[in-house]
Amino acid sequence: MQISFNGAAREVTGSCHQIQTDGGSFLLDCGLIQGGPERHERNRLPFPFQPEDLKAVVLSHAHIDHAGRLPLLVKAGFRGPIFATEPTVELCRIMLADSGRIQEEDARWKIKRLEKQGKDASWVRPLYTEDDAFRALDQFQDVEFHREYEVDGIGTFTYHLAGHILGAGVVELNVGQGAEARRILFSGDLGVEGARLLGPPESVREPDYLIMESTYGNRQREEVEDRTEQLFRILEGTLDRGGKVVIPSFAVGRAQEVMARINDLVETGRLSGVPVFVDSPMATAATRVFAMHPEVYSEEAQRLLGAGDAPLEFPGLRLVTSVQESMEINRWKGPAIIISPSGMCTAGRVKHHLRHNISDPKATILFVGYQARNTLGRLIKEGKDPVRIHSRWYDVEAEIEVVDGFSAHADLDELLGWYDSLGGVGKQTFLVHGEEDAAESLARDLRRRGDEPVVVPELGETFPLG
Ligand SMILES: [Zn+2]
Repeated sequence: MQISFNGAAREVTGSCHQIQTDGGSFLLDCGLIQGGPERHERNRLPFPFQPEDLKAVVLSHAHIDHAGRLPLLVKAGFRGPIFATEPTVELCRIMLADSGRIQEEDARWKIKRLEKQGKDASWVRPLYTEDDAFRALDQFQDVEFHREYEVDGIGTFTYHLAGHILGAGVVELNVGQGAEARRILFSGDLGVEGARLLGPPESVREPDYLIMESTYGNRQREEVEDRTEQLFRILEGTLDRGGKVVIPSFAVGRAQEVMARINDLVETGRLSGVPVFVDSPMATAATRVFAMHPEVYSEEAQRLLGAGDAPLEFPGLRLVTSVQESMEINRWKGPAIIISPSGMCTAGRVKHHLRHNISDPKATILFVGYQARNTLGRLIKEGKDPVRIHSRWYDVEAEIEVVDGFSAHADLDELLGWYDSLGGVGKQTFLVHGEEDAAESLARDLRRRGDEPVVVPELGETFPLG
């Protein structure tokens, strides 16, 4: 029995690990490699295994860096089942189709640019299409948390709650027979303590092998004042002076976490009479998926739900899908809250809302997530003035605010806490899904805590699971 690391090895995207046994082989995740054009091109390389020989894929969660190469895998001949929890399947329906559309748009844009330069563009192809995504979705099989399922001839798997995003699982695997039997635990991505909607990751005792994420393996979240209070202060200030609050946000996860906190402020009467527009078809669809799966909510969210307060439903909430309705938001006079992707202001409807509000001294632009270098979000956050949006320059007169700590990833203390909760790892720990510094730093910490060897695999490296 052996494991090969075909992605998210010393980097954070492209999660893809292959486990080979005497009974056949399967993948844990098959994610897109992201982070700039060079990395993106790596998605076009052939898989380092025969896709048609795989018996199954066991998917940890719906994020594109974990699921985004599945359409390519199917295109390359994989015909087996893709196991995922029910909310993950529903989110993948939205996110994989969207990813296909983005690939097609990117290709069209590239063709236009090359043709403008008088160059040959006949070779340009989308990485995959929306139709490819739908074909992959046909192979999905939904499963429940906390129930054991079988991969034909290989062994069994069980999902435990990872708390990272809706549907995200920690995967427990029992593979091999008799003396060869091994218990392998794959963390997927681990969530945080104290999120409003989802609970903390569940623990699974004493695996033989652990494959663990290390995104924030060297980072401690700052202790901030209660995020709901911070949010309240900013919202109240802006609404009192009659302005709009524009919150650029990822459509899945982050948007719902912010909505749940606004829900608390509205339901307790601290904010009232203000419209809250969630402007994005994808965020709207994701919100509906969240509303349908209270079984994975945190204890607090379940308690409130039991008392009659659905965490993503409150007076004033308006889920906007059509372009028409989206444009009407800009004609709305008076205070309002607008939550809209993309989270880093690189595309999407939020750019229209920024155009209409960034030069208004009564308005606030509120950042709730990481802003990567060279993105419009980063420029605004760093105080650049004026800024260019849709090829026009705008003076920045609005207030710029930041509420941190909405990350869906466990920080160092939470990673260590979860590791300790396993009560030891029998044979070996592999750290994946972290930049080299973060993974190596966490490896040093784990070596001090556990008895087993802790390694940070290189891309393409294979280890025996003896
Ligand atoms: Zn993730």
